[in-house]
Amino acid sequence: MQENYILDKALLEKRLKELAETPYTGEIRLGAMCYSPVVSTYEYKCELCGKTTEQTVCGINEVMYITTLVNEIKNAGYDVLLDGRDYCQYCKTPEPEGHNEYGFIRKHKVNGFVFMIRFNDNKDYHVVKTSNIDNYRCLKTFLINDDNFKGSYGQTCVLHENIDIIHKMTGLGAETVIEWSKSHKYRGKYSND
Ligand SMILES: [Zn+2]
Repeated sequence: MQENYILDKALLEKRLKELAETPYTGEIRLGAMCYSPVVSTYEYKCELCGKTTEQTVCGINEVMYITTLVNEIKNAGYDVLLDGRDYCQYCKTPEPEGHNEYGFIRKHKVNGFVFMIRFNDNKDYHVVKTSNIDNYRCLKTFLINDDNFKGSYGQTCVLHENIDIIHKMTGLGAETVIEWSKSHKYRGKYSND
């Protein structure tokens, strides 16, 4: 099952730099379809307490796809953690009593996933808070040594154009992303975290 993935931090930095400095030459497909939920319920297994919470339609795509993507990254040999306490009925912060400043009854606010990754230097985890599925697709694509993925609208997304996302998700390429961003205008992509 173990493929020849690049687990070494220095080699990953090198690959990221190469991606930033070369154009993508493969096929590009434009998409239009938005993924609708493929299942009506999903059992989310919390990494913190080990218990499962049944997810229903609201947010089910992000919980299911992100959990699956992080498990795939883990199975590829990377040291990753996914804190999904907001999706766990046992770990989420209890709702405060009473009313908020607008007079409405408070409801538990879902803040989303916190993702952590650490490379073979065994230093602290890089921590990023995002529940954007495409951020995780982009990360997985980089880590399994591929160079493009299908985004949420079915469009082809290429890593060469997403160096900032890889940097955000891994903490790698701090210098690479500065050089790269000079020639790539910010397009507001993947900003709905
Ligand atoms: Zn839990």
